[in-house]
Order: sequence, then structure tokens, then C-alpha cells
Amino acid sequence: MEVNLISYTIDCDKIPGVAAFTSCSKKNPYELYNTKTKKDTDDFIKRVVAYGHHSVIEHSNFTFSISGISRACSHELVRHRIASYTQQSQRYVKFNELDVVVPPKIKENKQAKKIFDDAIKKSADAYQKLLDLGIKPEDARFCFPNATKTNLLVTMNARSLMNFFAIRCCRRAQWEIHNLAYKMLKLVKEKAPVVFEKAGASCLQKRYCTEGALCCGLAPTFDEIKNGTANESKIKEYTDKMMEDCDLEK
Ligand SMILES: Cc1cc2nc3c(=O)[nH]c(=O)nc-3n(C[C@H](O)[C@H](O)[C@H](O)COP(=O)(O)OP(=O)(O)OC[C@H]3O[C@@H](n4cnc5c(N)ncnc54)[C@H](O)[C@@H]3O)c2cc1C
Repeated sequence: MEVNLISYTIDCDKIPGVAAFTSCSKKNPYELYNTKTKKDTDDFIKRVVAYGHHSVIEHSNFTFSISGISRACSHELVRHRIASYTQQSQRYVKFNELDVVVPPKIKENKQAKKIFDDAIKKSADAYQKLLDLGIKPEDARFCFPNATKTNLLVTMNARSLMNFFAIRCCRRAQWEIHNLAYKMLKLVKEKAPVVFEKAGASCLQKRYCTEGALCCGLAPTFDEIKNGTANESKIKEYTDKMMEDCDLEK
């Protein structure tokens, strides 16, 4: 998987601050943009994000090139509706070979890997045979497995990204989109550290886990927060580790 942030709003940390000031100032956004200092906008953004007034961070957009993820992962990704997507077409692109993502648990199990490889080979052979018969790629592709690699261009605003991270940085998310989410998180945090200061799994944003019995054990429960016995460092350490080494395929 390769993830690159190829375009983003200039002043992606400042513009949401200008938006926040616009709502409560006699000055117009242009005047505010030219007069407010970084400290002014940073402080205001931290406050309004903490209040839950997230509409102002919609003004910052981020465009990613994502390549080499499976179609299983891209299907999960495009469920996030508040975004724009363009995906490599299996109608217009004819594939000479079937490039696939191998799940780590299959890769490390010799017997499972053999079953997987055989299934992929059968799919690839069937695709080629159908093309040889004159069947169009748009129909021959019906033989392709979920493992087939794909490329996408994805644009999301900061508010939608915060929701994406809340859901997909959670350890309940499937490993491939989980890794993807941490790669994206690392990239946007570098460009907009104030807007994304609290970004990460839902438990990192809320300070406790809402998954009940399904909690992975890294985040404190609501009761632990209430009782003052919460250990919040585990989820922070996990987030830092995932951003450093997002190829952990668990
Ligand atoms: C662990 C896990 C398991 C999952 N299992 C399944 C599954 O079994 N089956 C399945 O179908 N999906 C499953 N999903 C996908 C999940 O249900 C969501 O579709 C996906 O995570 C996108 O989230 P979203 O709707 O918040 O994002 P977006 O579509 O980006 O929406 C962002 C926010 O905008 C608002 N919004 C968007 N559209 C509407 C709307 N039409 N009406 C009102 N508000 C709206 C909501 O507040 C929403 O949270 C799973 C996800 C995870 C993380």
C-alpha cells in the first residue's frame, strides 16, 4: 500500500480559525485572514473543536493518492460518503496479470497461502481465457477476487477525516483500512497539527471507549474515567506506534 498526500488547502490550520472568527466578528473573512495571528486562530480552533462545533474545519480539504490496496479495502473506504473518489476502472484498464493483496494471516500460514495462491491463479487464468474469447474486460473482471489491488484519488475535508479516523483507527476496524487510516492520519497531522491535534480512534477523541464488551482494552472505560482510575497512556502509545510503523498488519 502506498499513500501520498498530493494536495491540501493552503493554510489548512488557519482557514478553519478564520471561519470561526467570521461567525462572531464584524470584520469580513478577508480582513480576518490578514489580521489574525497564528496564535489567535490556533487558540480559537482548539476551543471550537472541543465544543464540538466542527463545521469550521470543513473548509480544509486533503487529497490523497492511495495505491495498492485491495478491492475489499476500497469498498470499505468508499462507504465514507462525505468524500470525493476516483477509482481505477476495471472496465477501461485491461490487466495483464492479477496483482493482489495477501492478508498477513494467510501469508504466514503455508497451507493457507497455497490455497490462496491456487484460487488467485484460477481467477487470473479465467480472466485471460474470457478475454481470449473476445469477452470485454468489463465482463471478464467478474472473475476477480476481493484481493485485487486498486488505486484511488480521494479528497476529504477535515471534519470527514476526523470521523474516518474515529472509526477506522479503532482496533475493531479491519487491518487493511486500519493501516490506511494511520498512514493518512500521519500525513494530515504534519500539515494541520492544530486541527488534527485530537484526531485518532474514537476513544482518543472522547477519552474513553464506547464499544462496550467489544473494547480492545487499550482505552479506559467510562467508569474508569469517572472513578479516576483511567490509564490513558496505552491508546496514545498505540497511536504513536501505528503512525510510526503503519505497516503493522494486525
Ligand atoms: C468495525 C466496523 C464494522 C462495520 N461493519 C459493517 C457491516 O457489517 N455492514 C455495513 O454495511 N457497514 C459496516 N461498517 C461500515 C459503517 O457502518 C459505515 O458505513 C462506515 O464506517 C462509514 O461511516 P459514516 O457513515 O460515519 O461515514 P460517512 O458516510 O462519511 O458519513 C459521515 C457522517 O455524516 C452523517 N451522514 C452521512 N450520510 C448520512 C445520511 N444519509 N443520513 C444522516 N446522516 C448522514 C453521519 O453523521 C455520518 O457519521 C462497519 C464499520 C466498522 C468500522
